[in-house]
Amino acid sequence: MSHPHLDLSAPAPLPAGGLRVIPLGGLGEVGRNMTVFEYDGRLLIVDCGVLFPEDHHPGVDLILPDFDPIRDRLDAVEALVLTHGHEDHIGATPYLLRERGDIPLVGSRLTLALLGSKLREHRLKETAQYEVAEGQTITFGPFVLEFVAVNHSIPDALAVVIRTGAGVVLHTGDFKMDQLPLDGRITDLNEFARLGDEGVDLFLTDSTNAEVPGFTTSEKEIGPVLDRVFAKSEQRIIVACFASHMHRVQQVLDAAVAHGRKVAYVGRSMVRNMAIAQDLGYLTVPPGVMVEAKELGDYPPHKQVLISTGSQGEPLAALSRMSQNNHHFVHLEPGDTVVLASSLIPGNENAVYRVINGLSRLGANVVHKGNSLVHVSGHASAGELLYCYNIVKPRNVMPVHGEIRHMRANADLACATGVENVVLAEDGVVVDLVDGVAKIVGKVDVGYVFVDGTTIGDISEASMKDRRILGEEGFLSVIVVVDSVTGKVVSGPEIHARGFAEEEATFDEVKPLIIEALNASIADGATDSYQLQQVVRRVVGRWVNRAHRRRPMIIPVVIEA
Ligand SMILES: [Zn+2]
Ligand SMILES: [Zn+2]
Repeated sequence: MSHPHLDLSAPAPLPAGGLRVIPLGGLGEVGRNMTVFEYDGRLLIVDCGVLFPEDHHPGVDLILPDFDPIRDRLDAVEALVLTHGHEDHIGATPYLLRERGDIPLVGSRLTLALLGSKLREHRLKETAQYEVAEGQTITFGPFVLEFVAVNHSIPDALAVVIRTGAGVVLHTGDFKMDQLPLDGRITDLNEFARLGDEGVDLFLTDSTNAEVPGFTTSEKEIGPVLDRVFAKSEQRIIVACFASHMHRVQQVLDAAVAHGRKVAYVGRSMVRNMAIAQDLGYLTVPPGVMVEAKELGDYPPHKQVLISTGSQGEPLAALSRMSQNNHHFVHLEPGDTVVLASSLIPGNENAVYRVINGLSRLGANVVHKGNSLVHVSGHASAGELLYCYNIVKPRNVMPVHGEIRHMRANADLACATGVENVVLAEDGVVVDLVDGVAKIVGKVDVGYVFVDGTTIGDISEASMKDRRILGEEGFLSVIVVVDSVTGKVVSGPEIHARGFAEEEATFDEVKPLIIEALNASIADGATDSYQLQQVVRRVVGRWVNRAHRRRPMIIPVVIEA
């Protein structure tokens, strides 16, 4: 197994006839998936998703993959293939199209429909779109693409085969192997086997659940659990789940019909996506069951079901507002049932438990995956991955999609089945497939690109650190006026604090230290205010750390008068 060493430098030019793989996101985190393939000077991109910010990204709305390594080669991009319609695979597409608007977009019917509504929201005009389905082949420049049906937690997901002069690549996208999916569309293992017989040179596989032993439970197992929850509930039921999980919503609709309840959607993305799913036939809505959210209140509580967004504790989503009792028309009553029919994405734990606590405080009965089987994963567990390696018999494996621990576990599975060459890479680590062997050949610089309000990429990791310090340690400003002729302190130091001890007297003991240090360095010949400000910062920093065990942000201002 080869590892992504920290001391890699920029890669040498790609040898003729070789295929280069440049992961720009998704290898090292669950989100912002984006992988670039390069052959003969041309580029193919698979997925372009977002990552949702965590507690240590204060004020950030979204995190994008870093387009920088391909920014000056966007003209060489033949196409962007979208494996499925999840935000972590399509969400950054509008930001890429802002840089080059005519990149051909390739995806299944549902994927392109979900993307289309996103592009309209971003006011991007019609783009070149190629709708594809399993079994189909389409060529872009030197890349011959073929698509394979895979089962996942959103309908119409595809794996992609990329054929070039360098060999055959199979990229699973996100997938699992539910043998009894609601729509009967299983991961096409026949095709995986046929590709295996042909010879797969490089197999990129979803690592998300590689640490989970055994097999992922079938989506159908949730139906009877929902049925029991509905049978027990005497008042209103609110189900929160992903706004893209059409099969989960289908099971909630079916349970509502079985128990004679009416259903309404709450949350903009839920309303929008379910309309698309219904139009395209991915969701079957029994007649007479749906009502507008605002009309649901006309029915008695035991006849109501709300299907809502916000299962990840997103502060602005409907469920979070309900948990704080400030949703504009849904007000929870004691005895209402709230079902969180969703996963807990790593990093969202605190936010989700905050919501569960808020709901509990309001008297709701909260059903979640911690106390009931109301969620199954959309990703293949270790057992399914082993099957895949044995069926595909790839020459080289490159785990994708996951934190490093997930990718490491996936790599171990591949090794256990006898795969000879497993390449463990992270974002920015460049892998070349040359003469049938995949190798790490270098690293390109990639960072996190933060979307904050209307700015994209203007917020650096350094300002993120400033925000964390401000949030956790507070802020101190120190103003001193120095006579420019005599070098004597003529006014101050004046100290102001926020988020720190705000008692004025606290600072009395440091003021003489500041004056003393300034006088000493002026006597040593320090003259410009920048140097003097550094002196003030050091003295105050040392004092505050020693006396208060804190490291607030310190802003020294030395004015020469
Ligand atoms: Zn994903
Ligand atoms: Zn997915």
